[in-house]
Amino acid sequence: ETSEQKQLVDLHEQAVKLYHHILVNTKMGRPALDYLRKRGVNDDTIETYQLGYAPQTRLLKPFFDQRQIDYQLLRKSGLFSEDQEGHLRDRFIDRVMYPIRNASGQPVAFSGRLVTKNVDLPKYLNSPETELFNKRKILFNLDLARPNIRSKQPALLFEGFMDVISAYQSGIKNGIASMGTSLTEQQIYDIQRITREVIICYDGDAPGQKAIRRAIDAFNQTNHQLNLKVVSIPDGMDPDEFIRHRGADQFKALLEHAQSPIEFELTFLKNQANLKSEAGQAAYISDALKLISSVPSEISRNLYLNHLAEEFEIDKQVLKKQLVPLVRKVV
Ligand code: ATP
Ligand code: MN
Ligand code: MN
Ligand code: MN
Repeated sequence: ETSEQKQLVDLHEQAVKLYHHILVNTKMGRPALDYLRKRGVNDDTIETYQLGYAPQTRLLKPFFDQRQIDYQLLRKSGLFSEDQEGHLRDRFIDRVMYPIRNASGQPVAFSGRLVTKNVDLPKYLNSPETELFNKRKILFNLDLARPNIRSKQPALLFEGFMDVISAYQSGIKNGIASMGTSLTEQQIYDIQRITREVIICYDGDAPGQKAIRRAIDAFNQTNHQLNLKVVSIPDGMDPDEFIRHRGADQFKALLEHAQSPIEFELTFLKNQANLKSEAGQAAYISDALKLISSVPSEISRNLYLNHLAEEFEIDKQVLKKQLVPLVRKVV
């Protein structure tokens, strides 16, 4: 850690405090506080995550100017946008502020969420890449979740950091999330350093289901030693919505019934197939056989074949002959 990095963390710590103060103690922060309460975020959670509010009036720049913080340092912090003349202005305006912390718990960036829907602006605005913040490396909540994951809970991988926060509030304290990017090799490596068990808990909507397939691919492209499972949240909800509507126990029940990636993919293919027509059935069976062919364990392959044979009342030996012989990668 260089002294400049230390100074940048220090700036972030001051910004966290200021935004948090605005949220919990001022009239300016009231609409944001109401917004958070309406979505079920309680005071404990606001404290734990030091949530804040960046008001409509720009205030971070004057705050740092008063403290005579160096211009170049402010520029590098990512907390400001810069106009053509090089003037800095607060980047985050009228947003609920979520501090993003590194694995040591230091604040290194923010994500700001619109309080009122505005089609012209992105729902979430993140800090840009800086010396402190690389979104391909960071895992939200790793600092708080790591001790729980290490004490033998699986790592729960969420799509949105609000899902992580919602789960944490309901006592599920082993959640992490990437910052809206697809999962990187570095992140997979960091997860693997603390656990062998991962459950993907992405959103139950169509984009979430696609993101699950991408995440599975990302895992498969590394030679990980993880026991990977997948949860499908019903009715297009995301984990936050599911927990609020059905409760933490129901969510834990979903975790108990997590599927293997192959099972998930089979279900996904089946939902897309037109099983009413014979051609649709044949196409699904052919896709399913390709997938089952990729399973390394012969025992597992046989179990999946049993299911498929039963489901379509086809002789298992017929299916078995159709398995695609694969040249398996020798790791
Ligand atoms: P909310 O419940 O507040 O609407 P969410 O967590 O359900 O938010 P999603 O829309 O499901 O958000 O997106 C998941 C993640 O993707 C977010 O946590 C965020 O990191 C990222 N994301 C979503 N929308 C944007 C955006 N417009 N710009 C940048 N990142 C985004
Ligand atoms: Mn989503
Ligand atoms: Mn949500
Ligand atoms: Mn979501």
